[in-house]
Amino acid sequence: MEISYTRYRIYRECPWKYKLLFVDGRKIPLGPKSSFGLSLHRALEAWLESGEFSLESLLSALRSKWLTMGYPDEESEARWFAKAERALTRFHGEEESRRARTVAVEKEFFWPSGAHIVRGMIDRIDQGPDGAYELIDYKTGPGAPTPEQVAKDPQMRFYALGAKRGLGLAPSTLTVDCVVAGERVSVPYEGVGEEAYDADIRAAASGIEAAAFPADTKYCPRCDFKSDCPYSAAK
Ligand code: SF4
Repeated sequence: MEISYTRYRIYRECPWKYKLLFVDGRKIPLGPKSSFGLSLHRALEAWLESGEFSLESLLSALRSKWLTMGYPDEESEARWFAKAERALTRFHGEEESRRARTVAVEKEFFWPSGAHIVRGMIDRIDQGPDGAYELIDYKTGPGAPTPEQVAKDPQMRFYALGAKRGLGLAPSTLTVDCVVAGERVSVPYEGVGEEAYDADIRAAASGIEAAAFPADTKYCPRCDFKSDCPYSAAK
């Protein structure tokens, strides 16, 4: 069984939701926020990989990678596009003052965990002048997490494990770069609880493999299937 962070997260939220998405093939349609976030990720990836770091090149990457689906009309799409341009222009100004070197973009990792393979993709890995590695994840929501939230963030911890076990690279810093909010939140990574986390990922993979898909109603209020799921507690 191969498990990614998204599959792990969804299985832990609600195994039935996992089944709807990954076994039955139900789709969650793109809305403005998810389409906007995807476009920004695609633009940043293309720009970092291009090796041409001007602002014009970043805005050109945004134009070429922009997804038009998910918006109710052209006016709404134009507003979101203008927001993306403002966010990336600010982001570019801050990038110019960074002293770290980018060593990888959208870096894939795999590690064996028991009988399973854990895989994932890290948005960006930088190396500071002192040689220390920093894992960076881009977020495109309106706010920014606290340092405590970043330190506990299961996605960042998943990537840190992936960097160590899949890439043989020990990260010293985890950073959430909130591209729209204009904030970078960095915390030191100390590797606390790695074994227990790996075991939980492995247990989730085993549950999926055994087709154990009970409903868990904790997250029903924000579930995309809440209106037609037979187990929904939020209809
Ligand atoms: S509505 Fe609730 S029970 Fe149904 S899939 Fe979503 S989270 Fe699970």
